[in-house]
Amino acid sequence: MAHGHVHAALTCLVLLGASPAVQPQQPGALGTLDAEGPVSYFIAPGEPGSRYRDGDRELASWALQAWERSANGALRFEPGPESTALLRVYWVPPNFGQYGEMRPLTVDGRRGAAVFIRPDTDALGEEIGRRANDDPLFRDAIVYLTCLHELGHALGLEHTADIVDVMYFFGFGGDIPGYFARYRDQLSSRSDIARVSGLSDGDLRRLRELYGSAPVPGDSP
Ligand SMILES: [Zn+2]
Repeated sequence: MAHGHVHAALTCLVLLGASPAVQPQQPGALGTLDAEGPVSYFIAPGEPGSRYRDGDRELASWALQAWERSANGALRFEPGPESTALLRVYWVPPNFGQYGEMRPLTVDGRRGAAVFIRPDTDALGEEIGRRANDDPLFRDAIVYLTCLHELGHALGLEHTADIVDVMYFFGFGGDIPGYFARYRDQLSSRSDIARVSGLSDGDLRRLRELYGSAPVPGDSP
């Protein structure tokens, strides 16, 4: 990271353990969630100054459902109170071009994670901000994909260097507005976000490497 000035790269911040060290390449060191039983989640109300919109919790829910659906039964999410939820989603004000952030937490000895989403697209650079203001679906695509990416870290997925992946690390550069436009262009209405997961074959392969396959119903004694 550059010192002495605001770093221009738009990134995602991953904090490991209690250490304040930023190691954005290594979130997989967290390991998987305990998915033996249902994984409880909590989606917070938007914090003042975050530019949260009323529908944003729905975007977070759709991101959770996309991962759940893709795990073929190996992951089951259910809503729960904040204090016991293994996965917690918070909407927070902008911070130097960061899209989101993931921090591990422990609940009764189980590994969980808090993800922090920064829905103020004006803080993500001139081009992103302009396109998001002109096109509400572009803005919602950014917020949805940020939820999907940070929840991916929460599940234990690491960054990749392939721009087709949701887990791509923006620090590698490339056409970031194009990354969001590729997803947005698959939508004709907001409700399409619920069925267009945005996950690549690589994202799905890594998810299944971490969580395996669910038993086929009726297959076991
Ligand atoms: Zn990330």
